[in-house]
Amino acid sequence: MRGTGLSYAAAVSLGASPIYYFGTEEQKQKYLVPITTGETLAAFGLTEPNAGSDAGGTRTTAVLEGDEYVINGEKTWITNASYSRTVTVTAVSGKDPKGKNIISAFIVPTNTQGLTINSNYEKMGVRASNTCEIILDNVRVPKENLLGDPDKGFKQFLFTLDGGRISIAALAVGIAQAAFDRALAFSKERIQFGKTISNFQAIQFKLADMAMEIELARNMVYKAAWLKDNKKPFAKEAAYAKLFASETAFRASNQAIQIHGGSGYMREYEVERYLRDAKLLEIGEGTSEIQRLVIARQLGC
Ligand SMILES: Cc1cc2nc3c(=O)[nH]c(=O)nc-3n(C[C@H](O)[C@H](O)[C@H](O)COP(=O)(O)OP(=O)(O)OC[C@H]3O[C@@H](n4cnc5c(N)ncnc54)[C@H](O)[C@@H]3O)c2cc1C
Repeated sequence: MRGTGLSYAAAVSLGASPIYYFGTEEQKQKYLVPITTGETLAAFGLTEPNAGSDAGGTRTTAVLEGDEYVINGEKTWITNASYSRTVTVTAVSGKDPKGKNIISAFIVPTNTQGLTINSNYEKMGVRASNTCEIILDNVRVPKENLLGDPDKGFKQFLFTLDGGRISIAALAVGIAQAAFDRALAFSKERIQFGKTISNFQAIQFKLADMAMEIELARNMVYKAAWLKDNKKPFAKEAAYAKLFASETAFRASNQAIQIHGGSGYMREYEVERYLRDAKLLEIGEGTSEIQRLVIARQLGC
């Protein structure tokens, strides 16, 4: 279910939301409606082999030729692209007056000539979620497929990522809760030294810390989501929630394995899978290090 959750989150918060927030009415009718009716998934291609955390280092280019943009470049680890009718990609479309790259977003139908999608990655976790390489070789899209204000492309996708972080945090809370539930149930069944291991304070303290952190992570997700829903600034709170919840999910999954002992190391008990899935949440949509940078920036550092 975590893979499904990730694909769903990527479709809604990365694939659909930029079109929802920044698209024209025509773009919404054409590209957003099939996503919202469930006819297709959606994808957002930001990451490149040489531009990960440093998304401003995008090397993909989009050059206006007549009424079309010609896009060339490569995107890496893009969720859902094989199952999407369109993928929104970022590309350098020009230079600002200071000579800095202008990065814009383009809606690219996945059946466009010159676009190749490969999904050969062997992942550590969330294997049910589709992850793709995208190669753009002289891909031509009508100039109407430019998404939003071309000069604010970078700001627009930072806004998109801020929102996506809340859904990653929510996924993390789900994994942490599942790990906790399994660990608690196991601790009440497993007997050692004539007692269930839930009688041992060392195990109780682990469970207490897990429960407390999950409660806090859940409240952080609710707060960030509430701020966003109420159109208040939420970038800092989304980063708090993503950072804390993903690290909570990793810690909780790790402790769940520990509480299971050797059984936790066996696939049969599933808690090892929680750990593999949780690890992604500390990396995707901005690593933990990048969340700390976002928070520090919001603090005025
Ligand atoms: C399964 C999966 C699905 C994904 N789906 C998508 C998707 O749908 N769309 C998309 O665009 N991308 C997607 N990604 C890419 C993901 O967002 C990137 O992997 C992530 O942003 C990190 O980039 P990177 O892997 O290039 O790591 P790098 O940026 O190379 O970072 C390597 C390490 O250096 C650290 N680091 C980098 N810069 C700094 C700094 N300034 N200060 C401190 N530390 C720093 C990082 O935190 C990390 O620990 C996906 C990735 C995976 C694994």
